[in-house]
Amino acid sequence: MIRAIAIDGPAGAGKSTIAKRLAAIKNFVYVDTGAMYRAIALYCIENDIPPVDDECMSQALEKINVTIDYLDGEQIVFLNGENVNGKIRTQQVGNMASSVSAIGKVRERMVALQQELARTRSVIMDGRDIGTVVLPDALVKIYLTASVEIRAKRRYDEYVEKGVECDLETLKKEIADRDHRDMTREHSPLRQAEDAVVVDSSYMTIDEVVAEILKIADEKGL
Ligand code: C5P
Repeated sequence: MIRAIAIDGPAGAGKSTIAKRLAAIKNFVYVDTGAMYRAIALYCIENDIPPVDDECMSQALEKINVTIDYLDGEQIVFLNGENVNGKIRTQQVGNMASSVSAIGKVRERMVALQQELARTRSVIMDGRDIGTVVLPDALVKIYLTASVEIRAKRRYDEYVEKGVECDLETLKKEIADRDHRDMTREHSPLRQAEDAVVVDSSYMTIDEVVAEILKIADEKGL
């Protein structure tokens, strides 16, 4: 067992918000694994590389270097030396990340990087395969979910707040498509680890979810 909290679940369930809060409370390092796949997706978008299979991505991966650093507790993702935090949060990059992350060679590389980050520190890591593949020995495993309607509405509100134009029905469809791709892919599909505790955040506030996970961690002695 390692002193780690693994949080998996579909897009928009609130994983990163919750994980950041928990990391601050527990004084653990927050590792956002989606950001790493997003960095590779950004490379593909900027270089017109369709992420079709292992072969085309093997060539691309030779030219891609993703590294992680932490500044005042915030995770910074570098793509070939450039801080890309400001570029990877778009819906386009998220959708491309879902395609990129289905490719075995990409997963191999990213899982190794994630395991290395957890080797020397206590982490709260969120993603799709943390409890099943990346940190199968994590002491606490949470499967955080919420209905598609509620997840789409949360994304919609986030975009509206940022002044980004969007359409609720389109977001709902994109989220449902992303769920489908993430759950049915051959390599490390999104699924609940056998020993994960399910938390459905549909009708819970952020504070309630945080309190619930702290209780679960406490029960496990973390
Ligand atoms: O969590 P986030 O929306 O940033 O992730 C973007 C995409 O990266 C996801 O839709 C998923 O396909 C992929 N991903 C993954 N494994 C992880 C984290 C993210 O496959 N551990």
